[in-house]
Amino acid sequence: MKSFFHPRLVNDRFDDPSVFVEIPWEHRAVLLDLGLNYHLPPKKLLRVTDALVSHAHMDHFIGFDHLLRLRLPHDRPLRLFGPDGITTRVASKLAGYTWNVVDSYPFSLEVIEIVSDRLKHTRMSARDGFVAIPAGERADGSDVKTVFRDELITVRASLLDHKTPCAAYSLTERLRVNINRDALDRAGLPRGDWLRCLKEKVRAGEPDESEIEVPGRGRLRLGELRQAIVSVNPGQKIAYVVDTVFDEENARRILELAEEADVFFCEARFLDRDADRARSTHHLTARQAGWLARRANVKRLEVFHFSPRYEREPEALHQEAVQAFQGEEVHPEMLWK
Ligand SMILES: [Zn+2]
Ligand SMILES: [Zn+2]
Repeated sequence: MKSFFHPRLVNDRFDDPSVFVEIPWEHRAVLLDLGLNYHLPPKKLLRVTDALVSHAHMDHFIGFDHLLRLRLPHDRPLRLFGPDGITTRVASKLAGYTWNVVDSYPFSLEVIEIVSDRLKHTRMSARDGFVAIPAGERADGSDVKTVFRDELITVRASLLDHKTPCAAYSLTERLRVNINRDALDRAGLPRGDWLRCLKEKVRAGEPDESEIEVPGRGRLRLGELRQAIVSVNPGQKIAYVVDTVFDEENARRILELAEEADVFFCEARFLDRDADRARSTHHLTARQAGWLARRANVKRLEVFHFSPRYEREPEALHQEAVQAFQGEEVHPEMLWK
């Protein structure tokens, strides 16, 4: 299956965490966390439509300034997601600069703050000096919330405990809907814009009885078209988890969020021999990351955000994670010690 998302770590596994997820066919990208991102070519950063921030510890948020600076003269808006307090933090960063000559800049920002029982939207634009304008709230008390959806992607988030709320994210391609060209020709149906409309109706799960206008053929039933010329497959999924303590509640939320992911980016800050340190700093060990990947039944695990104490033995972190992911299963009690 052709990959829809092309994800890659922005930095070395010991450096600031950030994953750049490109959607090449759409000239679009999503950034998971805003660690330092100077290494990314500006043309790549200009494609970012959504920045999903886990929390505002410096190593996860310092790249906001670089992204902002590049984006100022451009009109593509940016959505920025983050946990409790993110709106104030973004506004405070913006308040740290002088904006007396930006009224010709078209850049605007929408901040979506994820709190335990709701999502809060705020707009800020360069034209009016980034004054924060509330743009609505939506109640949502679920553990895994759908925080954004458009015709291409769905973003879900869950708040984890890192002594401060830390958002984990999943990014899912909407249902992959393809038209079988041979079947289309055999049925004598025309090509054209109506196929786009057909795909959207299939993605939206509209009922078989709904109809669609086909040029030269009048109104045809969706169910018949779906059966004759459409193939539907689940889309690709990426999950991203950083900076969290390993406990029952966090594990439950992570497993729900990351279930069946194609690629699971998970922090592995410590080795199991330093599990006490992981617990006291609210981080995961490589063994815990591997166990989570196994239980979530993901296809590929990428561990990162390594502590500098292992700079001479990065392989030990990889091996411990792989062992727990694909080797003999570790009993969960071994991880809670
Ligand atoms: Zn942190
Ligand atoms: Zn961190």
